[in-house]
Amino acid sequence: MKKFAYYADFIYYNDEIVNKSYLLVENNIIKGISSNIEEISDYSIIMFNNSAIFPGLINTHNHLGMGIMRGFADDLPLMTWLNDYIWPTERKLLSGDFVYYSTLLSLAESIRSGVTCVNDMYFFANNAKMAIEKSGIRGYVGFGVLDNFDKALKSADKFEESDLVSLSICPHALYTVPFDIMKQCVDYASKRNILLHTHLAETKDEENIILAKYGKRPVELMNETGAFDCPSVFAHCVHINDSDMKIMSKKQVNTSHCIESNLKLASGFSPVKQMLDANINVSIGTDGVCSNNDLSMVGEMRTVSLFHKAFNNDATALDAKTVLNMATKNAAKALNRDDIGVLYEGKKADFFVLSFDSIHMTPVYNPISHLIYNAKDSDITDVYVNGKPVMQNRKLLKIDEEEIKNYAREKAKNIIQG
Ligand SMILES: [Zn+2]
Repeated sequence: MKKFAYYADFIYYNDEIVNKSYLLVENNIIKGISSNIEEISDYSIIMFNNSAIFPGLINTHNHLGMGIMRGFADDLPLMTWLNDYIWPTERKLLSGDFVYYSTLLSLAESIRSGVTCVNDMYFFANNAKMAIEKSGIRGYVGFGVLDNFDKALKSADKFEESDLVSLSICPHALYTVPFDIMKQCVDYASKRNILLHTHLAETKDEENIILAKYGKRPVELMNETGAFDCPSVFAHCVHINDSDMKIMSKKQVNTSHCIESNLKLASGFSPVKQMLDANINVSIGTDGVCSNNDLSMVGEMRTVSLFHKAFNNDATALDAKTVLNMATKNAAKALNRDDIGVLYEGKKADFFVLSFDSIHMTPVYNPISHLIYNAKDSDITDVYVNGKPVMQNRKLLKIDEEEIKNYAREKAKNIIQG
């Protein structure tokens, strides 16, 4: 049996910072915490001096397979961006290989930001699965559904989940997927007890389209599909009013807040503080690289905290600990998991190490405050998933970054040529 004790000056253990202790891990499971080295003489000791250990960050809304399309079409309204740039490029370029390498590119960036689990939504699910398995982190491969449910269903039926990779079904949104197909997806997710992952109430245009077509608001219509009654996570939830919030609170809806995407596409401002106050579960997602344009969860947490203080005219809103919990334990709850998202006895050993060596991290009073307000991805040195390292001392152990960069540069030539 492999037993490791990871020392750090600070460990965020069961919602509290514990000083100068060892996180105890046997195989892939956390066994506890100890500050007494004599108690743990049968453990191999790994030292992370001048560092903190945090539970791995969980990105609850992403389109990993878009990685190679980063930055080719910016500064456009959402519908123009989708109709004239993203969707035509996807139709032209998407292949299993493209998705595999794009997903790996996105995963490499994610790991460097302390991410140990991703909730993905895209196409070519089997290629996305291969990439996630190669990276060594945990992930949900989402079967994208637009208007052909039967085709998606056939491949979803054949999909085999593994230790680290789970399946989800991803109807795109109510404004792109007919109501009956959305309902079929909900029924399929309920029957197989898998996660449903979709976009909801992202833009004012979406609200107007749904109101005109169905005479209902997006949240009301989504409620009618039964989606709030099965394991499910809803990206964005920007345009929601008080009556939407009542439904979402009653149904304990799980949301993924994508602040940087909402800001970049000028989609509007999600009432996150009000949702949290109403006991709606809010986690954090980056969305894809085409609308962010990076996958840094460290950066995303900072933006979430800063934006909602300004938005609420309240410097105490969304404090550092609340935001960290959104990216860890709220996220695990959104994915219907009770084995990840927190460092505690019996949970899976998914964690990252934050170094305080850099000048902008010196000195340290409150490690959570440093993580949210001044850390950069480059301060993350080590990442462990399921008890195994996937990054050590800033080096990715499972992904060949040079190979991915070469592939991406070649493919980018086709995108530029149109
Ligand atoms: Zn999205």
